[in-house]
Amino acid sequence: MDTFIKLQDIALNMHLEPAEETNINPAPEVAPCGQVVPAAPNKGQRSTQAKQEALGISHAVMPGGKTMPMLKTLLTSACERDCYYCPFRAGRNYRRHTFQPEEMAKAFMQMYRAGMVEGLFLSSGIIKGSVATQDRLLETAEILRRKYQFKGYLHLKVMPGAEEAQLRHAMTLASRLSVNLEAPNDKRLALLAPRKEFFRELLRPLQLIEQIRQNEPAHLGWNGRWPSTVTQFVVGAVGETDVEILSTTAYLTQQLHIQRAYFSPFSPLENTPLENHPAENPTRKVRLYQVSFLFRDYGFDLEDMPFDQQGNLPLDIDPKLAWAQANLQHSPVELNRAEPEELLRVPGIGPKSSQTIVQARRHGRLQELNHLRQLGIATKRLAPYVLLDGKRPSFQLPLKI
Ligand code: SF4
Repeated sequence: MDTFIKLQDIALNMHLEPAEETNINPAPEVAPCGQVVPAAPNKGQRSTQAKQEALGISHAVMPGGKTMPMLKTLLTSACERDCYYCPFRAGRNYRRHTFQPEEMAKAFMQMYRAGMVEGLFLSSGIIKGSVATQDRLLETAEILRRKYQFKGYLHLKVMPGAEEAQLRHAMTLASRLSVNLEAPNDKRLALLAPRKEFFRELLRPLQLIEQIRQNEPAHLGWNGRWPSTVTQFVVGAVGETDVEILSTTAYLTQQLHIQRAYFSPFSPLENTPLENHPAENPTRKVRLYQVSFLFRDYGFDLEDMPFDQQGNLPLDIDPKLAWAQANLQHSPVELNRAEPEELLRVPGIGPKSSQTIVQARRHGRLQELNHLRQLGIATKRLAPYVLLDGKRPSFQLPLKI
């Protein structure tokens, strides 16, 4: 069968497999301090996008903001496991395709040389066990790196239960590795993917990768750097609370230094055991991302978060704003004196604006909101929670978002 038809068939379900931030589909994530909405594409761009998406090409936003067309695909869409939410689960009536490692590497390089893609995210269904499947992923990566001398971005999936030697091998080839936990703990995973073992098959590989990153020289990694790691949770399929998801996310971020946790709101699929389970509210995903960024970039902890009695975040308010309403309303932060970490706790101030404020106050006192606006800092969200030279600025109460 034609390689591109195989890629198209696989792409139909790849939206369930987040890999990098994308600026086409789905919509960009909301950061704690605001939202970037891309300009609507014109007709010509829409048709190019549609063709690219049909093949599984998305536009990944890399650290630093550069956008990169990336092929997101599977070595095989066949799988012997039966995770309850997955379109590729064994026994589901679905046209399956399998690539040989050389065939996949060649197809990717053809697209790469034609300027269609710059990077690859490669995952796989499991056939003949995780170890054999991981070997085929590694073989594909080897062919790309050694035979075709591909030096670009390669995101490889780690199969559940991959061996330590395979992890080490993957770390010498990949720019990024992902191990999807899918659920926040073993009890929830048993309801979602009963044939996966949370600790041995999923968490342990992430711990081993971090141990290697911490203890062994980075020049052994691809291009002299160890790969970053990411994970994914399926949200809302098995009754897990936000506290469960975010306590695991906090551990992964603070102890295992993962770059990013992805939150995929559950959506029922026909012919799966969860087909009658309701879809998750997409706003829950937004709140989870906001909190994960607060952990990673803003110094917040789990205890700071405004969980309700059931252990969930309110959906109608940004968690950073909720924290500020509870903690800063009566103790505003003096922008002329606050430490950078205190500045980061103020709604509307992110890592960049916090640095801008620290630099600006070396040259003079910040006395009014206009001084901040001149520095390019939006003031609507921060105004209720700050002092400028000992005085509260005048402001209108912002709407909850
Ligand atoms: S192992 Fe992966 S591909 Fe297979 S059913 Fe589970 S989630 Fe789907």
